[in-house]
Amino acid sequence: MAISADQKMDLLVSLCKRRGFVFPDSEIYGGFANAWDFGPYGVELKNNIRDAWWKRFVYGREDLVGVDTPIIQHPKVWEASGHLQNFSDPLVECKRCHHRFRADHLLEARQAEPGYDKEVPVDIKDIKCPDCGGQLTDVMNFNLMLKTFIGVKEDTAAVAYLRPETAAGMFTTWKNIRDSMRQKLPFGIAQVGKAFRNEITPGNFIFRLREFEQMEIEYYVHPDDAPRAYDMWLDEYKAWVRDVLKISDDHVQYREIPDEERAFYSRRSIDPEYQFPFGMKELGGLANRGDHDLSNHQRVSGEDLRWFDQEKGERFIPYVIEPTWGLTRSVLAVLSEHLDIDEADSVEGDKEPRMVLRFPPNLAPVKAAFLPLQKKEELTAIARKLSRELKSRGINVEYDESASIGKRYRRQDEIGTPWCFTVDFESLEDGKVTVRDRDAMTQERIAIDEVPDWIQEKLK
Ligand code: ATP
Repeated sequence: MAISADQKMDLLVSLCKRRGFVFPDSEIYGGFANAWDFGPYGVELKNNIRDAWWKRFVYGREDLVGVDTPIIQHPKVWEASGHLQNFSDPLVECKRCHHRFRADHLLEARQAEPGYDKEVPVDIKDIKCPDCGGQLTDVMNFNLMLKTFIGVKEDTAAVAYLRPETAAGMFTTWKNIRDSMRQKLPFGIAQVGKAFRNEITPGNFIFRLREFEQMEIEYYVHPDDAPRAYDMWLDEYKAWVRDVLKISDDHVQYREIPDEERAFYSRRSIDPEYQFPFGMKELGGLANRGDHDLSNHQRVSGEDLRWFDQEKGERFIPYVIEPTWGLTRSVLAVLSEHLDIDEADSVEGDKEPRMVLRFPPNLAPVKAAFLPLQKKEELTAIARKLSRELKSRGINVEYDESASIGKRYRRQDEIGTPWCFTVDFESLEDGKVTVRDRDAMTQERIAIDEVPDWIQEKLK
């Protein structure tokens, strides 16, 4: 059933709270704006995306190694990377209501208005406050780095920063990996972790946060090999979105960033964008960063960060191809992509709307539910035993004996569980259980002892 974009966001936010995916943070204190807790199903979904990514890229390829570097690094790192000087967003403030906006977002919104002539450049001075119509200030550059102090003194010598992206750690550890891991160029370093930005306008649920997670790869190549490696990572990115997140091609676009929008060091940038309910927005990025990062770290640290090609007797600073995935944004994209409403039989025998999350099974927070038809010992014992067996194999499943079977199905549909197994009185005679498929809603009887292997096989 088609769900309108406006409806979708409201449905998602309320479903996420009602069913334990994402809760407003610190709610007992009235909530903390733009901070969210991942609940039991949210954390499973996020971890499943992260684990699928790690398995595919770090275990699945011979040219990548994983690392985990600190959130708070040496402050020199941010001097060398340029973040201290340049990592800012253009901010305007309304002189009347004092609401703040990203100037670039206001300009984009103006250009997207129907009938707007894209050839005519927009001047921010011609734009009024979207909230109250007041006059806006001139553009100020606002640094997004979150500052903290290390040690007992809160003076300038003690200033440190929370990383605004995970990438930096993979540049600073480059020398150690180069010297210890016996890799040959091209090879990459992968990392997953938290990043922090003092965003001017956080919002859209978990889309733009001050604290979020990224999955990033810094792939080091000979400069001549950079265009080939870039194309290879673009193909990898597309395959990940299509085959793992199961996002329809109609809902993504790979936007080539024009020269005037690109960071000065970037030789090529493409932003994968997803059709979120609030518009086509950035999901991640793919950049050819040239030798910008290693050259700057070499200059500031004084260490030799070049690669030595023994066969050719050549020393050079490798180029970096950087694919970045927003993990928190991927969770939102996967929720949005797979939310659906169809019809199911109600208890009264007629049809009623059914909300369902059609997650790909390997991303689903719960893989299967075991449901005794009634709370009778002979039935509950079978369901509990199956549940324990699956958990012992490291597969997250649920046992549920509460409420009517219809209500239990509905609950599992809403958390996206692919298969529900019902144990009924016939099971005691034929040694079989009924498995109901979340999407087709078909039912099939299979032998109780075959259930664990059946599920494991389906998840392969
Ligand atoms: P935007 O234009 O949306 O501010 P960006 O271009 O600044 O994003 P990058 O610096 O390229 O973002 O960060 C890489 C990825 O990290 C983004 O594509 C996104 O998936 C994720 N990301 C960045 N900032 C945030 C945030 N505040 N909240 C959640 N995810 C974020």
